[in-house]
Formats: sequence, structure tokens, C-alpha cells
Amino acid sequence: MQTATVLHGRENQIHRKGTAPFAIDCNKDSLAGAVSQRACVFCGSRVVLYPIADALHLVHGPIGCAVYTWDIRGALSSGPELHRLSFSTDLQEMDVIFGGEKKLYAALIELIDRHRPKAAFVYSTCIVGLIGDDLEAVCRRVTEEKGIPVLPVMSEGFKGNKREGYQAACRAMARLVGTGDTAGIAKHSINILGDFNLAGEIWLIRDYFQRMGIEVVANITGDGRVDDIRRAHGAGLNVVQCSGATMDLATMMREEYGIPSVRVSYFGVEDMAEALYTVATFFADPEMMEKARAIVREELEKLLPELQRYKAALAGKKAAIYVGGAFKAFSLVKAFRLIGIDVVMVGSQTGTVEDYEELQQITDEGTIIVDDSNPLELSAFLQEKEVDVFVGGVKERPIAYKLGVAFCDHNHERKEMLAGFAGMLNFAREVHDSVMSPVWQFVPRRTKEI
Ligand code: SF4
Repeated sequence: MQTATVLHGRENQIHRKGTAPFAIDCNKDSLAGAVSQRACVFCGSRVVLYPIADALHLVHGPIGCAVYTWDIRGALSSGPELHRLSFSTDLQEMDVIFGGEKKLYAALIELIDRHRPKAAFVYSTCIVGLIGDDLEAVCRRVTEEKGIPVLPVMSEGFKGNKREGYQAACRAMARLVGTGDTAGIAKHSINILGDFNLAGEIWLIRDYFQRMGIEVVANITGDGRVDDIRRAHGAGLNVVQCSGATMDLATMMREEYGIPSVRVSYFGVEDMAEALYTVATFFADPEMMEKARAIVREELEKLLPELQRYKAALAGKKAAIYVGGAFKAFSLVKAFRLIGIDVVMVGSQTGTVEDYEELQQITDEGTIIVDDSNPLELSAFLQEKEVDVFVGGVKERPIAYKLGVAFCDHNHERKEMLAGFAGMLNFAREVHDSVMSPVWQFVPRRTKEI
């Protein structure tokens, strides 16, 4: 067995279940020089707002910030696709010296005239935070001149971690909410928060809710529309997926408009069913609950026999999970269990103490639980635990492949829907195909430290 490499100062951000009473240090800035897997504040904002498809997204900063997040979500839209263009003010040395406000104003006017967006989001980057451009003033001026909401997103990359980017995005959206007409919204209505429609999952989830007789007012933000978000305060309930990204908006809407919220996950069979039951319970409508049960029954009848085939092939394999928000990790632990795979390592970029406490409750003895990890640690953990499949995002993929370990993308870049009942089958298939791929005979598992 190998001993994982842990940088001095990070020891308390790792817990091995069963070796000591539970305690973990988290929800803080990354250790300098640790090469955290986290992204910057700006990137955190960008990933939340990006799927709003009829808005203009203008990155005020050097071109590199815009390129870094260009098409970052790949979020699908059922209509306009303005979100997929990445606009930048392309700040240069002279702008840094003399200020970039004029350039920002000119860019906004040109882009709004050319693309006629429903709203514009203007992202602040590191350099803008340093030179002190007044985004608020420029946005206010353009709002008055062009008659659409132009919203500054105060997301200077250096000012914290990705979680603060989520908050900046939520604050920008909160300025939109409450500005639309709520006439005609049904009594049983919800907003879907925290799904980003990477591969069409929000359409599936909306369909489940609509089959239960519920009106979906706004998608926040997958396949999102500005006008829907403007009237989102007319919904009866905010249904929030993921622990970090949009919870702040739900909190703001509760404080401002008295809209309650529930937290759900659409990943894995148990959590998907629980999400439908949670919403039906909230509306206290027996007919709605019966419809939810019928959906679950119908979907499981199709799904379970197929899952059994994958379970037979995968039983006893070992998995590691490293994702952005810990809420997704809860679902993945259960989903792996359903197909016979043991989770031996699980971590997240932005989990809270409560999140990690829950993770240690649902995982087996010996599982490594890690906060804000880095490639060095992750590589060592994968080797130490002799992991067969690693689930993560774009930055985790090369770690797995270099070690000859199968990989499943559960983040920005995937093209396969992994949410809902249909998504569980896709997940099982993808894990199976990656673990069993003949390619591994040419890339043997590396069992020594790299
Ligand atoms: S905002 Fe700052 S940290 Fe983020 S991509 Fe731009 S320069 Fe890099």
C-alpha cells in the first residue's frame, strides 16, 4: 500500500473514515502553491450564468479569461444560442494604464446593437479589479441608453474561490428577478435551480414535473431565458440542485419574496425519485404524489433489469469521485452502490463541513474524504486505493488516463445525459464501457507513485 502525498498545511483537509473521529477543515481559500483543482471566482460566475441563452455575456478583461471559459458548459439551448459566443473587451497594456471603461462602453453598444440580447452580463476579471474600472457606472449608463438590463458581475478572479463566483452570479441574477410580470402563473409552480442542461437533462426533469401537473416558471440556468428569470418570483417553490452554485439565489428569493426552497439531486435512482416525492410533499397534493409514484414505477420497471447486467459485470470494482459540489457526490456514492461498485475516495472543491459529515455517514470504513484537492494528492489516492474508475471533470481526466484508470466525465464537458432515470442507465453504461475498455491493455495501470 502506498502513502498518499499530502502537502504541509493540507493535512486537516483529508479524513480517512474509521481512523479518527470525524473532523475536516474546509470552505476556505486554497493553500498557496497547492495547484488546487478549483477554478477562479470569474470562472465560478461564468459557469453559473453561461447557459442563459438569450443574454449577451461580455468578459471585461484580457482575452485569456474569455478563452479559458469559452463554451465552458456546452449547455444546450432549445432556442437562441447567443451564450455560446464568448465576447471580450480584450484589454491591452494601454487600457490597463489608462482604464478600460471607454472600451467596455463601446463594446457593449456595438454588441447590443448587433445581437439584440434580452440582457447583458458583464464579467469583471482580475485586472479589472486591480485597475478599478467602474463596471457599475458603465452598465447603468448602457442600461439607460439601450433599455435592457446590463448587469455587472463582480467576479474578479483573485478575490476568493470559485464559491464566491457563484455568489457574484447569484447577486447579478437577483437583480433580474422581480422585474417581470407574474400574471397567469399556476398555483403549483416551481423554478428549477442548479441544473445547467449540459446534455439535455433539464428537458427530462421538466417533463417529469410537468407530468406531475407542475408548471416550471424558470430554468436557472440550464436552457435559461432572461424573461423567465425576471418572473421567477411568481413561482411557489425553488427546487435547488447542487449545494453551491445557485443556493445563494434561492436564499435571496426567500428573503425578498418569501419563496421557500428544497434541495434535491437528479443523479441516481434514489435521489431522482426522492426529488419528485419532495416536491409533491411540499405541495401536499395526494394526486400529485400518486403521479410521482407512477413516474418512478414506470421508469424503474424499464431501468432495473438493464442495470442488473452492468452490476453483474462491475461488482467489486472500486471508484473514486472528485467533483465541484459535494451534493453531487452524495448521489454518485449511491449510484455506484446500485451497480455494485465500492467508493474508496470522495472529494469536492467547495464542500462544507455539513456536506463532508454526510459523506462520511454514507461511505464505507476506510474511504478517503478530501476537500479542495490537487493533482499530486489525487494521483496518490488513486494509486493507494487501486481505483478502477475515477469520476470527475475536465481537470481530473488526464490524472486518470496517465495512471491507466478508467474515467467518467460528470462535469462541464460531457455530452451524455446522466441525470434522471434514463441518465442512470447512461451512467452505468459509460462506467462499464470505460472500465472494460480493451484500451487498458495498452495503457497498463500505474501502481507506483509518479
Ligand atoms: S479572472 Fe484572473 S484568475 Fe480568472 S482567468 Fe482571468 S486572469 Fe485568470
